Amino acid sequence: DSFSALPLTEDTQTALTNMGYEKMTKIQAKSIPPLLKGQDLIGAAQTGSGKTLAFLVPIVEVLRKAKFHTRNGTGALILAPTRELAMQIYGVCKELMTEKSTMTYGLIMGGSNRKTEAERLRKGVNIIIATPGRLLDHLQNSPGFVTRNLLVFCMDEADRILEIGFEDDLRAIVKMLPKERQTMLFSATQTKQIEDLARLSINPKTAIYV
Ligand code: AMP
Repeated sequence: DSFSALPLTEDTQTALTNMGYEKMTKIQAKSIPPLLKGQDLIGAAQTGSGKTLAFLVPIVEVLRKAKFHTRNGTGALILAPTRELAMQIYGVCKELMTEKSTMTYGLIMGGSNRKTEAERLRKGVNIIIATPGRLLDHLQNSPGFVTRNLLVFCMDEADRILEIGFEDDLRAIVKMLPKERQTMLFSATQTKQIEDLARLSINPKTAIYV
């Protein structure tokens, strides 16, 4: 179960080596191979399990293989319940980027300057890490925010997203995204609400539960 056995780009292998990781955690070993094949996934994962890399490694790989660059707009959207978690994910994403990487990535979240964010979105942010309220605001109100090329939609700590009261925002966001995409849903608990969210967002034909 080592990262080096995975069919990853050299850039990603180098980044993981630089981060000091060799062996995958349990959730990574179960999630990364099917995600690299393009399957949808519902992951039961607690904080501290290594779930961040379980979705970020496949996301970065999908975009690297599709040769994403700024003018393609957004290729991956990661939603988190809180600014604190969004910033943590952003930090790990940054570590996965090598010097020669041209992929753009950024935070979109409540409390930040809306206009500055809208301007960055107009230029093109390949990987967005966002809290739901602000993201929906931009989807509805920011011209030039290109999401038609979106390949991956990922929800981290989905149970907390729902608990905080973002359910309506989340449903509105899902409705505005391209249907042809890969979806990843991570949650610490498996509730009826999470099942409903999965039914709304996940492709049952390819989805696996880990
Ligand atoms: P997470 O659950 O994603 O917040 O990760 C929890 C902690 O595990 C973080 O501090 C990571 O740096 C660390 N971590 C993630 N993946 C690995 C790995 N494959 N080997 C060792 N540590 C890891």
